[in-house]
Amino acid sequence: MTYRHHGLTSMALFTVAVFVGLAITARHSWLATAGYVAINIVAALGIAYTYCGKCACRTRHCSHFVIGKMADWLPQRPPGPYTRGDYAGMLLSAVAVFVYPLPWLWAAPVWLAAYTGIFLIATLDILLAVCPRCKNTRCPAARWPARKRE
Ligand code: SF4
Repeated sequence: MTYRHHGLTSMALFTVAVFVGLAITARHSWLATAGYVAINIVAALGIAYTYCGKCACRTRHCSHFVIGKMADWLPQRPPGPYTRGDYAGMLLSAVAVFVYPLPWLWAAPVWLAAYTGIFLIATLDILLAVCPRCKNTRCPAARWPARKRE
């Protein structure tokens, strides 16, 4: 599998985890579900703008495809070193998506295990199989050109 296959696989896994979160919030109330939908939209835009917006390979080499394209559609930012604000925007967005459904998941251990397990596998897939080959050299997780991109 190339790093693009892993990039797509990890995005698919995150999508499944989000649907698990939506399913559990839907058992509680439509308001909780609407909140999670809103969090996901804002977080995706937040990551695309604060982090992917400065990535020089977002247009042609993004292994996650969708998020790179989103960054292209948003107001353009010149590639450059990431600031603390950029890191904070990316991390807060990702944490918000993960944390929001947890209060409802605590009451359903099997769903909680599925949710956290899928999130963990997707994150490891990125860290172990995508980041080593990613050309975004300004990202601290990228290890290019230490390993040749496929
Ligand atoms: S390679 Fe990473 S930082 Fe660059 S656009 Fe894709 S997801 Fe964003």
